[in-house]
Amino acid sequence: MGTVKTSHRELPMDKIRNIGIIAHIDAGKTTTSERILFYTGKSYKIGDIDEGNTQMDWMEQEKERGITIVSAATTTFWTPQIPGSLFTDEHRINLIDTPGHVDFTAEVERSLRVLDGGVTVLDGEEGVQSQSETVWRQADKYKVPRLCFVNKMDKLGANFQHTLDDIHEKLGAKTAVVAYPIGAENTFRGVVLLLERKALIWAGDETGAKYTEEDIPADIKDEVEAERAKLLESICETDDTLLEKYLSGEEPTVPELKKALRAATIAYKLVPIYCGSSLRNKGVQPLLDGVVDYLPSPMDVPPAEGTLPDSEEKTTRAPDVKGPFAGLAFKIQADPHVGKLTYVRIYSGRVDSGSYIYNATRDVTERVGRLLLMHANDREEIPFAEAGEIVAIVGLKDTKTGDTLCDKDHPVVLEGISFTEPVISLAIEPKTKADQEKMGIALQRLAEEDPTFKVKSNHETGQTLIAGMGELHLEVLVDRMKREFKVDANVGNPQVAYKETIGKEAEAEGKYIRQSGGRGQYGHCFLRIKPLGRGEGYKWVNSIVGGAIPREFIPAIEKGVKEALENGVIAGYPLVDIEVELYDGSYHEVDSSEIAFKIAGSMALQSAVKAAAPIILEPVMKLEITTPEEFMGDVIGDVSSKRGQVLGTAQRGNVRVITAMVPLAELSRYVTILRSMTQGRASSYMEMSHYEPVPGNIADKIINKETN
Ligand code: GDP
Repeated sequence: MGTVKTSHRELPMDKIRNIGIIAHIDAGKTTTSERILFYTGKSYKIGDIDEGNTQMDWMEQEKERGITIVSAATTTFWTPQIPGSLFTDEHRINLIDTPGHVDFTAEVERSLRVLDGGVTVLDGEEGVQSQSETVWRQADKYKVPRLCFVNKMDKLGANFQHTLDDIHEKLGAKTAVVAYPIGAENTFRGVVLLLERKALIWAGDETGAKYTEEDIPADIKDEVEAERAKLLESICETDDTLLEKYLSGEEPTVPELKKALRAATIAYKLVPIYCGSSLRNKGVQPLLDGVVDYLPSPMDVPPAEGTLPDSEEKTTRAPDVKGPFAGLAFKIQADPHVGKLTYVRIYSGRVDSGSYIYNATRDVTERVGRLLLMHANDREEIPFAEAGEIVAIVGLKDTKTGDTLCDKDHPVVLEGISFTEPVISLAIEPKTKADQEKMGIALQRLAEEDPTFKVKSNHETGQTLIAGMGELHLEVLVDRMKREFKVDANVGNPQVAYKETIGKEAEAEGKYIRQSGGRGQYGHCFLRIKPLGRGEGYKWVNSIVGGAIPREFIPAIEKGVKEALENGVIAGYPLVDIEVELYDGSYHEVDSSEIAFKIAGSMALQSAVKAAAPIILEPVMKLEITTPEEFMGDVIGDVSSKRGQVLGTAQRGNVRVITAMVPLAELSRYVTILRSMTQGRASSYMEMSHYEPVPGNIADKIINKETN
């Protein structure tokens, strides 16, 4: 087992927890993070999000919007407090930031990739909201063990049991309630730790309020026993030895149960449930104990998977400080004090400040200037960092998000981070010449930090286009450009990112022959194209046999094909979901060249697409609207008028929740529209769902550029 050293700490790898808090916006992620930083002693004062004064949100407009996007990883320390905890010594908790808003879903994906365990914060009144569902599924995909914290137990309408039912029904999770609420709404006072049969009561609401250990209140004794029995049963079901004991009438000991629950959580069999009120400073300390007790250390998770560079050969990096260095760069951040920070999750080996490391993704060697541990409000320079740790490196020049950094003698490319393509774009135009220069730098920096943000220039109009995941995403970026980089610019209306594809199979020939004096040009090929499933992208098949075209020209043909795919034949949008097969052709001993085959490839593709019933695709969003009953009719009518399809409606408390699929093109400024339609009482949430063919009349408008 390795030892993690920093200038002032020495902790073995099994004492590390790399966790992220995952939540629907407004569930209380920021407030909970802040309380965690407070209790772990690294935050001097509890900032209140409502007053726009928080430790983790230091970017101005995030404070205004109350969204957390930055601070990739914060290091804190925690020693479990409640007697009977599985571990009683100090642990290092690295809190990895995850964004609350789904427009930043790439950020969620990237953080899930590098954390070992998650805490899902739910609103005890709202229950499981749709974004929580999305993030839950993402966490499933990355196999992240997690705990749930049912927050806002103090809020009017808070209902623990309903939230629990929601977790079962909507998330399909098997729960293990470890902290059961005492009271609800304004009578919420604390929690019962079911295994220990111990009540923790917080007398006051104030920051840093201490709890007292008390007997279980008489009026809830029966329900507590019933819940405890359920808990025991669900834990024992995951462990044969315990189950045998349990069935024979003998109750396993609390440490036995906790060990089994830890194993079951790490194996995604159970999700421990905590509850409390972050705002009122209740229930957070037991949650922190839970993070240490039940979430995995870097040693408990499977080795990181990857391949050898330039090959398909698979390899892994086990969490071993003695192994070769390997880590994943998961976030690039511009820091006002030290310049560019590259956040790296180290999977194996160690990295020293001042050393050289190899970026296997880009085949470049980089020098590690300094290594930093980021705390809530200070940073600590450390001489080296080891497997299991998350550090910020200063001094890397060419490394981008998702790149693998490793030992040059033992190169590996770890599984990268997949990002969704932008669905919306807008034109920006600098106001002055000085702005133009600043804008170039600003956009480059912002794109470096955020891989879902793309900058393109439109050659025809000379305009700069920025593309992202939604209106809010672009708004935040434009805001940052204006504030942080002081760029003055005019911003156009958001444009939807359409795509094109084909409706059927087709074949075509491409022939590029010039033979007028001197050396000529000769390129000739036959392509067959087939529609692929939605989202499958592009597939290249070379089935040339017998040398109809010499091998050295084939990459040139594919290059021509790829270039032609960038501009579809209907309205110039990128072509997707298409298989291209090269099956025949011919060549000329003297005149054939790469350029001639490239042109032939482009020509063949274009003709084939024209013959293959091309169509335009548009992004369709899943829209969820929460509205008071009285506005239901108006809201649904409006959705229908937007080519939307209502999937269902549900009752939640005294409001209705409408789920619908609506084309993104119809949703411009939807938040504002909904607000004015419902006197500000409805709220909405949307996320990219899929691409779908656009109806004919709309396609005509798109072709004639009458949209937006
Ligand atoms: P985030 O969007 O998930 O980061 O959520 P915030 O931490 O910003 O909280 C959203 C809102 O809920 C803010 O107005 C908080 O004050 C409030 N809030 C957070 N935790 C609690 C809680 O435990 N009880 C109540 N009643 N409100 C809370």
